[in-house]
Amino acid sequence: MLGKKLASAITLTISLLSLPTTAGVIFGSVGDLGGGYRWDADYYEIGGRERSLDGGLRYSMQGGSLTTYRDLFSWDISPTLEAFGITIRQAFNAWQSVDPVTGLTTSLNFVDDSATTQVIGNGFGTVNINGAEIDLLASNAGDSITRATSYFNASGHEVTLTSGTTNYSNSGAIIGADININNNQGAIYSLDFFGRLLTHEIGHALGLGDVEFYGSNGFIDDNYDANDPLGTLTNSWGLLVDPLNPAASVGLKKFTPSISAIKTPGVNLLMESQGLGIAAGNPVTNKVPLTNDEYGMRQFLYPTLYAAKVPEPSSLAIFSLAIFFFLRRSKVTSN
Ligand SMILES: [Zn+2]
Repeated sequence: MLGKKLASAITLTISLLSLPTTAGVIFGSVGDLGGGYRWDADYYEIGGRERSLDGGLRYSMQGGSLTTYRDLFSWDISPTLEAFGITIRQAFNAWQSVDPVTGLTTSLNFVDDSATTQVIGNGFGTVNINGAEIDLLASNAGDSITRATSYFNASGHEVTLTSGTTNYSNSGAIIGADININNNQGAIYSLDFFGRLLTHEIGHALGLGDVEFYGSNGFIDDNYDANDPLGTLTNSWGLLVDPLNPAASVGLKKFTPSISAIKTPGVNLLMESQGLGIAAGNPVTNKVPLTNDEYGMRQFLYPTLYAAKVPEPSSLAIFSLAIFFFLRRSKVTSN
């Protein structure tokens, strides 16, 4: 299954009220680098549901337990409960890892709420904001491809950034995400691939798009050069993000790299819809498969003022737009 080419599809729907989306491997961007949908760093409640980073992002597994969730899928080798649990945890932990190049830390954290919150979903390629903040679901995509979708809805509430900036201009708050992993009987997973797929989908649930399908949203980078995709799509740019106002980051802008550039050998981005960045340089066994681009995007969406000590200095997404509803809401999906 590892070699199977994943079909890719991402759609983004935003409201009539939203301004033109232009920049970033983010959804709901406004202007060049402005706006973007992300989870609120301050307590935020909508419709009686707490939907923010306050208390951690709570996720829940369909069936209410690791055992039940594991057994909703077909496996090449059935994983032990312990191994399955570690894999789920590692997929979330990867997003909490310190950027090894810049030392940038993160305040993101995730809480397994399966025991107390029942998931609520509507099937593959959909989202229902009820249930946990992030629902992990198993649903039949109607084919035997090992793939998943991640959709979220967002409100027009302007969030507080993790750096402390309040009412961040033109932003929107993610108010619920559903990750649907295909559990068609013919979709046979290895534990490693399942973990990589989940890690990628969690990226979407945080607001990152697929790098091949940026559409009019654009692709944030510092120096993309079509003549040197390997050199310019793999370098670190997280430190260029202005943590108090990412929209004002000097040195970042949007680019429109070709799919062939993104597929350049050695460019192995976790947020590639096709292939999930799995390659010799980023093997499926890698439990922290974030690359410089994902760390940069994490810093853009959830900026931190803190960097751990790093040994030495060193020196992106995809969608189509549609009009939807009256409120500013977004839906994101990808494989
Ligand atoms: Zn994707």
